[in-house]
Amino acid sequence: MNHDRSHELFTRANQLLPGGVNSPVRAFKSVGGEPFFAQRAEGAYLHDVDGNRYIDYVGSWGPMIAGHAHPKVLEAVERTMRSGLSFGVPNPLEVDMAEAITSIVPSCEMVRMVNSGTEATLSAIRLARGATGRSRIVKFEGCYHGHGDSFLVKAGSGVMTLGLPNSPGVPSSLADLTLTLPYNDFEAATKLFEEAGDDIAGVIIEPIVGNANCILPREGYLQHLRELCTRHGALLIFDEVMTGFRVALGGAQQRYGITPDLSTFGKIIGGGMPVGAFGGRRDLMSQVAPAGPIYQAGTLSGNPVAMAAGLATLELVREPGFHERLDTATHQLCDGLEAAAREAGVPFHTTRAPGMFGLYFREGPVETFEDAKASDGARFGRFFHAMLERGVYLAPSAFEAGFVSSAHGEAEIAATVEAARGAFAACAG
Ligand code: PMP
Repeated sequence: MNHDRSHELFTRANQLLPGGVNSPVRAFKSVGGEPFFAQRAEGAYLHDVDGNRYIDYVGSWGPMIAGHAHPKVLEAVERTMRSGLSFGVPNPLEVDMAEAITSIVPSCEMVRMVNSGTEATLSAIRLARGATGRSRIVKFEGCYHGHGDSFLVKAGSGVMTLGLPNSPGVPSSLADLTLTLPYNDFEAATKLFEEAGDDIAGVIIEPIVGNANCILPREGYLQHLRELCTRHGALLIFDEVMTGFRVALGGAQQRYGITPDLSTFGKIIGGGMPVGAFGGRRDLMSQVAPAGPIYQAGTLSGNPVAMAAGLATLELVREPGFHERLDTATHQLCDGLEAAAREAGVPFHTTRAPGMFGLYFREGPVETFEDAKASDGARFGRFFHAMLERGVYLAPSAFEAGFVSSAHGEAEIAATVEAARGAFAACAG
């Protein structure tokens, strides 16, 4: 595979952008080598500037659940942009989007649109602190909630990949207000609440952890957190930036039957445009400015073109059977990969939720962050490159979930499993 143009671009980029990229995991740091530069994308495929084609399991890190460049999404964007790119006054699509989110996710009685997942989570904890009058927040080891100061404490995703879970530049006086818990540990949560429950404004969690590979909640764990929060007057915040509209139409809260007080969203609701949102109970959301005193704002929030892309994507995921088909495809892929690993004699395990999956170079089960970290990262790196050579693009980090879209059909999955046979054999030793 030729990568001359990508190499040329990366050389230029390295002089101009820190690490040659605008977001760390894109740089291939943990898997080695250099990233490829995209020329275009369509359906399940990414095409690079050197003319190579890849079956894409990153999907722009989650938004492209209906596949790249879906004609209905492009049509909505083209139609909307002809009327202007941004108005700075309310536009009708913001109301349509708020109606769509609140009707799909009943715990969200009101929402506020923002421009990224990071903005959504940092606004949600400001609201939690403002509404409760408390300062401390609780997060879970290996969970990533964007790059807000309060969240860069034992975080997952790129900070984990690069070994920087506590970032320089975050004042310790702020980081000290973030308490951390091991995900899926019932007793640790109970104990923390016994000790500090009355100081805790909110507990923020990825209900399925997609930023430490992919770890599913133990039976009853999310319910346990719900009960602790209720008992101690803390708010339960589900960060559904990744899981929202994916693992079920109504997200992880629908899949597991839990009602959080606040939720955060991103990725899919923008359909590939920069969008995030936070929402929740009316009495809480009514405290956000200008309805209430807790400040939050954005020049481009509710941008019409972004709303159009998100609304068109939501329409696609609302089609009957969408998530069942996504689930079937995810199982086909993971079953196929596990069988291919067995044939090659490579210790390997997958975790799955509809439309997202984790790959582990170790035997299962994987239920905790410690389990996830025990995966063989060096072997993952070799597998990643062997797959890339065979035209399959996986997340370039052992700590990121993979994504399946509705454009991944039987042909793409069969081709991926075939590539994996060769890739497992190549990294068996
Ligand atoms: N929360 C979760 C669960 C995420 O996965 C991410 C990004 N991967 C974020 C928040 C931050 O979103 P953004 O990158 O749009 O700021």
